[in-house]
Amino acid sequence: MHSDNTPQFTRRSWIKTMIVGLCGGAMANTHGKQPLEQHITGAAPKKVSRIASGKAVACAQCDACMPCGYGVDIPANFKFYDEMLQEGAIPDLSSTDRTSMEFRSKAINFLRKYDRTIPDSHQSQRCTKCFHCVKECRERIFIVNELAALTAIVDELRDWECQHL
Ligand code: SF4
Ligand code: SF4
Repeated sequence: MHSDNTPQFTRRSWIKTMIVGLCGGAMANTHGKQPLEQHITGAAPKKVSRIASGKAVACAQCDACMPCGYGVDIPANFKFYDEMLQEGAIPDLSSTDRTSMEFRSKAINFLRKYDRTIPDSHQSQRCTKCFHCVKECRERIFIVNELAALTAIVDELRDWECQHL
């Protein structure tokens, strides 16, 4: 039971945390909250997700985490991200100049390619953080964190597109 004044770890606040990580902050939780993954698994939490650190997820595409009851195509999302990273096609979200041709071109390409590659119903934002998949990954990918980090990128770019196009 909680009151209206109880701090809630909402999707929006999760996204903001991830964006801070993407911007190079790699900040720890500054509100003194216990990391969400620690609540669920009791395992030592990873500091920052691979995606939020600008690293490849390195998903083995083994499908052990599938199916997701909420429709997320976990390996497809990670494959998409890793390929974009390898191609240097991820817009620099730490850039203060988001009006450059390079940023614009990468942002639009990223969004269009994501929507073409993965239908909306299978995209990362569909993750409800049920944690069902997390224990299945032998690559020790903290799937929930990685999907949230990808969602943060996509949300940031969609917000940018709404404001600039
Ligand atoms: S944590 Fe997310 S991706 Fe994993 S099974 Fe639950 S909803 Fe699906
Ligand atoms: S279990 Fe891990 S390595 Fe295998 S597809 Fe899922 S996220 Fe990738």
